[in-house]
Amino acid sequence: MCGECCLGKGGVYLDRPGAEAAAGCMGLAFARFEELFLEREPSGLYSVASSPGPEGHCLLFRDGLCLVHPVKPPICRAWPRLRAIVTDPGAFLEAGGACPGLARLDFEGLSSEYRGGGRALPPRSFKAVLLAKARPSGVGPGGRGEG
Ligand code: SF4
Repeated sequence: MCGECCLGKGGVYLDRPGAEAAAGCMGLAFARFEELFLEREPSGLYSVASSPGPEGHCLLFRDGLCLVHPVKPPICRAWPRLRAIVTDPGAFLEAGGACPGLARLDFEGLSSEYRGGGRALPPRSFKAVLLAKARPSGVGPGGRGEG
C-alpha cells in the first residue's frame, strides 16, 4: 500500500469485462468510468489511466489506495511477481530500488519458487494474455486460424 508501483503511466490494461468490473466497483456507469479513467486502444483493450494524476500516480490511486482494488488490473494484482523480476537478478535489483516490499526479499528465495516448475511463471505479457482471451479461440485478426 505504499503506492510506489502505482507511479507513472502506461502498461496497465483491462479487457471489457475487467473494465466493467472496475466501473461497478466504483459504482459508476461504464461510460462514465471510461470517460474518466480509460483510453480505448485499437486492439479493443482499455489502457488504464494513461495520463498520471497530479502527483504522478495512476488516476485510480487515491489516498494510498487503489480505487478498484478488489478487481484491479491483472498486472497490478501480479506485481511484483512479474516474469523478469522473478527470473532476472538485474531486473529484480532494479525493481527493488522502487519497491520497498521487494527490497525486503532476496532474489534466490523469490526465484526458487519458480525454478523446477514449483510455481507457474508469470506470463511474458499480461496485455497479450488479455488479447488472447478476447480473441475467439484459434481465430487470428484476419479471421483465419493462426495455426
Ligand atoms: S489500477 Fe490501481 S493498482 Fe493498478 S496502477 Fe492504478 S491505482 Fe495502482
